[in-house]
Amino acid sequence: MAQPLRLVIFGRQGAGKGTQCIRLIERYGVVHISTGDMLRAEVAADTELGRKAAEIMASGGLVDDETILGVAKSRISQDDVKAHGFVLDGFPRTIDQAAGLIDALGDHALDAVIDLDVPLGEVTKRMKLRARDDDTDEAIAKRLALYEEQTQPVLQFFADRGLLVRVDGLGTEEEVTERLYAAVDAQIEAGAKANSGNCE
Ligand code: AMP
Repeated sequence: MAQPLRLVIFGRQGAGKGTQCIRLIERYGVVHISTGDMLRAEVAADTELGRKAAEIMASGGLVDDETILGVAKSRISQDDVKAHGFVLDGFPRTIDQAAGLIDALGDHALDAVIDLDVPLGEVTKRMKLRARDDDTDEAIAKRLALYEEQTQPVLQFFADRGLLVRVDGLGTEEEVTERLYAAVDAQIEAGAKANSGNCE
């Protein structure tokens, strides 16, 4: 059988990535790897890592690359992920994280990298409506600014490798899901053709 599917999804805070990740898991049977969820679990369990990350997370900053790479790589090497593949969510967020991921997996390991694109003005509007007690305006603004500064170059990194697919994230959840499925299916198809060595 072909190797399990390996996906990465990018999107600004408020782009609807959480919902669309669930849809990807339903359709492709991959394991959801969210470094944000993993860090929140560490905070809840009051581990050393959780204590180190809590303040950075609350302020909207980024946990250091070495720590995050350790967290992500140890999860990727577990048996369920090896068997079922993954969708990475919230990782990699910096060029060093992306380079570390490619180092660990090899150059041709990813099947598709999705940019769930909702423009900055629109997510800013959505986040204002959705403000929660545990998420301050300053933290949201910092997270969005860091996305432009640190994470946009990562999108270019994957575009340069021919892996990036942009999916328009505006519209209803169902419309976005249909676009997402079509984009991922097309990448799988393209990868299968490339691997078969048959150019028709
Ligand atoms: P998320 O749920 O992906 O928005 O992550 C919540 C918070 O966890 C972020 O605002 C960061 O403080 C931290 N975090 C999650 N993933 C990463 C990452 N790949 N690199 C650095 N910090 C991260």
